[in-house]
Amino acid sequence: MSGEIIDGKLIANYYREQLKEKISDLSTSGIVPGLAVILVGDNHASHTYVKMKRKACSKLGIHSELYQYDDGLTEDQLLDKIRELNNQDHIHGILVQLPLPKQINPITVIETISPSKDVDGFHPVSIGKMVTNQDTFYSCTPFGIMKMLEYENISIEGKHVVILGRSNIVGKPSGHLFLNRNATVTFCHSKTENIPYYTRQADILVSAVGKANLIDAGDIKEGAIVIDVGMNRDDEGNLCGDVNFSKVKEKASRITPVPGGVGPMTITMLLYNTVKSAEWALANRKNG
Ligand code: NAP
Repeated sequence: MSGEIIDGKLIANYYREQLKEKISDLSTSGIVPGLAVILVGDNHASHTYVKMKRKACSKLGIHSELYQYDDGLTEDQLLDKIRELNNQDHIHGILVQLPLPKQINPITVIETISPSKDVDGFHPVSIGKMVTNQDTFYSCTPFGIMKMLEYENISIEGKHVVILGRSNIVGKPSGHLFLNRNATVTFCHSKTENIPYYTRQADILVSAVGKANLIDAGDIKEGAIVIDVGMNRDDEGNLCGDVNFSKVKEKASRITPVPGGVGPMTITMLLYNTVKSAEWALANRKNG
């Protein structure tokens, strides 16, 4: 068997086209979705991510504003800026690019963002709603995985989903979204013993660890669906995931590549959440 490749770029474009229609509908009510992006310090990767996010906004007609600070910014200054943005009607989403300099506590920062503008889905209110299966902003990478599977018509109910990684932004929320869709979920992490024992049982395997070649063909079940979230560099410096793609592809039924798999979906879901927030703001305005 040779697995079918799940084309994240194509799927991301499909959802971005849908968003264009929603943005056009919003414009008839005089609303342009607005995203405020806060960038602190000179982390090279953060600058690249912010550039990509703002470019994606601009392509779709989402207004974005960048607030850029050097790494001497105090926590109070950052919190004041967030509170100001919380009160601005033309801003529907607030994104603080992580990591932050060490004098700033990211938990305090996330908790200061209004849950109604938490388009990254990191606020405890968003997480609580997700865990209790309510509509909310879901964090972008896990949500992107779900939308990808939805596009591919892959059924989730009753499936055994094994998640490698338990971070607050990828592993844990991914598991909860699968659980909400009636999957049976197993989490593995750095302290799990005999990880292949679990991965070989997976109907759907999600790897969100950050280690190249962690998963080989012997670690999966014949016909499994493999979602590779990892973003690593191989020995030649090329971008790669956690999965030995060429080997695992021969045994999986479907597989996401890196690059071109989960990555493009993550930014798309940030756009999705920003548009959703603008739609909620309009609905609230109409309801007085
Ligand atoms: P993270 O916070 O470093 O978490 C990594 C997780 O992997 C931890 O839960 C850790 O366990 C677990 N782990 C470490 N070694 C393991 C092993 N040998 N077997 C099983 N689990 C192991 O990373 P993250 O932020 O979740 O990101 C994970 C990867 O996804 C990274 O490569 C990142 O670059 C990538 N990523 C991609 C996107 C995208 O859009 N494509 C978005 C976000 C992240 P402990 O909890 O026990 O330490």
